[in-house]
Amino acid sequence: MAVTRKPVVEVRRSQRRRRTVSAYRDGERVVVLIPDQFSRAEESEWVDRMLARLAAREGRLARSDAELLARATRLIDLYLPEHGSAAAPASVRWVTNQNGRWGSCTPADRTIRISHRVQDMPDWVIDYVLLHELAHLIVPSHNADFWALVARYPRSERARGYLEGVAATATIP
Ligand SMILES: [Zn+2]
Repeated sequence: MAVTRKPVVEVRRSQRRRRTVSAYRDGERVVVLIPDQFSRAEESEWVDRMLARLAAREGRLARSDAELLARATRLIDLYLPEHGSAAAPASVRWVTNQNGRWGSCTPADRTIRISHRVQDMPDWVIDYVLLHELAHLIVPSHNADFWALVARYPRSERARGYLEGVAATATIP
């Protein structure tokens, strides 16, 4: 749930711009860059459009640690109910310093970290990455017991395929 406050908008016209419009947040303000030849009507139409686009983008990024923990609790209820206490993490956090892995966990202190690179992915992929780490709290290694737990999530295979696709694309220079 985002608190929506109408931002202060600063429109900058550029003679170099022909058709492209862009917008970014600068503190409390939103700067919208438009071509100089835009009419007032086009300007106001594009400001509205860019504000909506920015809000949508930020809404996705607003996936917080608290939301991640709530998501983990729901996944435990759905897929690991008999492991309730064993699978319950002490903390679940988004981290930006983890580029090689989608998620990681430390069974000793029951902490889970999920890479910010997963933040923009579909919910069902985030759920898979999270469930994978929750299952590691029960079974640390990638053995048959572990994969049996993960397979309870119906979209495990698809999510793994999705992540492999992203990883393959990311390594293309
Ligand atoms: Zn794993």
